[in-house]
Amino acid sequence: MKIHEYQAKEILRHFGVVTPRGIPCFSVEEAIQAGQSLGTAVCVVKAQIHAGGRGKGGGVKVAKSAAELESAARAIFGMQLVTHQTGPEGQPVRRLLIEEGADIRKELYVGMVVDRGSQRVALMVSSEGGMDIEEVAAHTPEKIHTLFIDPMQGLLDQQAREMAAKMGVPETLLDQARVLLQGLYRAFDETDASLAEINPLVLTGDGRVVALDAKMNFDANALYRHPDIAALRDLDEEDPNEIEASKFDLSYISLDGNIGCLVNGAGLAMATMDIVKLYGGSPANFLDVGGGATTEKVTEAFKLMLRNPGLKAILVNIFGGIMRCDVIANGVVSAAREVDLKVPLVVRLEGTNVELGKQILAESGLPILSAVNMADAAAQVVQAARG
Ligand code: ADP
Ligand code: MG
Repeated sequence: MKIHEYQAKEILRHFGVVTPRGIPCFSVEEAIQAGQSLGTAVCVVKAQIHAGGRGKGGGVKVAKSAAELESAARAIFGMQLVTHQTGPEGQPVRRLLIEEGADIRKELYVGMVVDRGSQRVALMVSSEGGMDIEEVAAHTPEKIHTLFIDPMQGLLDQQAREMAAKMGVPETLLDQARVLLQGLYRAFDETDASLAEINPLVLTGDGRVVALDAKMNFDANALYRHPDIAALRDLDEEDPNEIEASKFDLSYISLDGNIGCLVNGAGLAMATMDIVKLYGGSPANFLDVGGGATTEKVTEAFKLMLRNPGLKAILVNIFGGIMRCDVIANGVVSAAREVDLKVPLVVRLEGTNVELGKQILAESGLPILSAVNMADAAAQVVQAARG
């Protein structure tokens, strides 16, 4: 689960990480007020959306007067902000963060992720902050330093100082940077985060080490332990299809292709997307209906896929283990009738009661293309999507 920058900064402050003072705002009027109550000469108006690259997209503006702040807030609030992480349609800005301006001397990078290989939290730092870290990783990987943190020991004083030195923090500021890195690690650990990123971490003209940006993602499977963090969820920032799917306990992820995939089991769903790709097609979604899919669930799954105006064909790929193929076949038939299906539908069934399932599909009178195996299913659905 993702949260906004202002929310991440609030969490980090609890763990002793220094951030600029700031006030979240939900209207231009509130932003103007916030500028007055901060009372600093320079303010920064920052769009709050669940995507990075806001600065380049025009979603972060420095204001040196009340008039500048008002015009920046008017420009950003309500804008459709396009960044390299939002996709070409962008994301509407519904919240702003008004923050005191920092006197930036140097921009550094700090990131933390769970590293599955080492089963530890990886701390990554770089002197190249403020820009795309992906660029740095691609062209000058030697400028990124990584430390895998021992969960029993945590981030030790000496390790934190060494990492700070590696990213170019001068001797006089090493202790401040140490406190920040250790606070960030404790925040990460105690909130069950899956990612934390401070880009940029800045050294200021008045000799402080400050987290100027903050991004935190959390492990959705651990949210039950953190009701306070779960409460920070902003549904406006999430894909409406994915929200709808979660209501029916369907695992659904929108993708940009045109072949809808309805599968039981996440592993089979991944394999199905792979084989569709292999045959030259492009999946419109990942969708796992789970082991206990009912007719109602299958119908909802069809409705979800059909919300996509670019959908050209649907592939249903079911392995009936616990699930019986006749139940799925009935679900598919009644769903196809209920939604008045207009796109070609390819079905591959295998497993318990497969013959009965195939019979139900054949006798339904619906124009369903039956496939004998996954390769056949992929070939047929790719062909069907081409029209
Ligand atoms: P994003 O990563 O989404 O572009 P950031 O919060 O990193 O957003 O802001 C982009 C840039 O704007 C920063 O690299 C920094 O140069 C500048 N900036 C952000 N916040 C402040 C601030 N409080 N004071 C001064 N400059 C800021
Ligand atoms: Mg940033």
